[in-house]
Amino acid sequence: MFLMTVMLNGQDNKFGIVIHGGAGKIVKGNMNPEREVEYTAKLNEVLEAGYRILSGGGSSLDAVQAVIKIMENSPLFNAGKGAVLTEKGVAELDASIMDGKTLAAGAVAGIKHVKSPITLARLVMEKSPHIMMIGDGAEEFAKQNDLEMVENEYFITKERWESYQKAIKREEEKKKIEKHGTVGAVALDKNGNIAAGTSTGGMMMKKFGRVGDAPIIGAGTYANNNTCGVSATGSGEYFIRIGVAKDISAMMEYKGMKLLDASEAVIKKVGELGGYGGVICMDKDGNISMPFNTEGMYRGYYMSGGKPVVLMYE
Ligand code: ASP
Repeated sequence: MFLMTVMLNGQDNKFGIVIHGGAGKIVKGNMNPEREVEYTAKLNEVLEAGYRILSGGGSSLDAVQAVIKIMENSPLFNAGKGAVLTEKGVAELDASIMDGKTLAAGAVAGIKHVKSPITLARLVMEKSPHIMMIGDGAEEFAKQNDLEMVENEYFITKERWESYQKAIKREEEKKKIEKHGTVGAVALDKNGNIAAGTSTGGMMMKKFGRVGDAPIIGAGTYANNNTCGVSATGSGEYFIRIGVAKDISAMMEYKGMKLLDASEAVIKKVGELGGYGGVICMDKDGNISMPFNTEGMYRGYYMSGGKPVVLMYE
C-alpha cells in the first residue's frame, strides 16, 4: 500500500532537468551558423540523456552526473576536454556535486589527469569522509577507486591551445579571450529530490593553483530539497565573494522569496560588484530560473509534460 502511494505520487510529481554550458559573449550576429548547430545538437542530446534517466525513475544525482559527464567529454565546453588553460599552459579542472535530500556534497579542484572531474566529485561525496579534495591527493583517491585517468594533453583542444598562444603573445589579448563554457546541471527527480553539479576548466590564463567558484559548495553549486538547486557560471571570484548559490537558497528559506526573484537579485548583486555570469536554478516544485548579465548563456531545460528547450542568446 505504501509503495503504491509512493508510486502514484511519483507519477504526479513534476520532474526534469535544467543545464548550462557557460555564460559570456554569445551574440547572435557573431555566432558562426555551424557552431550554433553544433551547440544546439549537443545541448539537446544532453537534455534527452538527463530526461531519459529521470523519466525512468533514476535519481537527480545520476542525471546531473551523467549530463555533466557528456559535456565534459565535448570539446564545445570549458570542462574536461576543451578546458581553458592556466598561465602555464595546462588544464586544471574543478567540479562539484550536491544532493539536496541529505545536503551531502563532493568537490574537487586542481585536477589534471582525471577524465571526468564530476565523477570524482561524486566519489568524494560518497566514498570519502570529506567534502573537498584537491590536486595530487584527489588524483590518488581517483586511482585507488579505478577512475579513468588521462594525460593532461587529452583535455587540450587545438582551439584552446591557439587562444592560449594568442594570450601569451599579447597582454592586450588576454582581456579579449572568450572564457565561457563551464557546464552545470540541476535536476529534480520523481521522488522530489534535487541535485546540482558544476564542472569547469576555470578561467583562461588563470594563475596555476587558482580555484574558482565551481567546486565551492554555496558559491558555484548548491542543492536543498526544501528550496532549490543552483549551478553557476561566470567570473568565479565574484561568485565566491557573494556566495551566490547558497544566497539564492537562503533568500527562499529565510525570506520566503520565489526562485525567480531570489536568483535575479543575486545576479544583480554580482553585476554591482563588477562580476559577470549567470545561474541555472530549479525549485522543489519544478520552477526554473536562468538569469545572467552577459550577452548570452548556453542553456536549456526539459521538464515532464514538456519538450526540450535550448537557448543561447538574451
Ligand atoms: N565560474 C568559472 C570559474 O570561475 C568560470 C566560468 O564559469 O566561466 O572558474
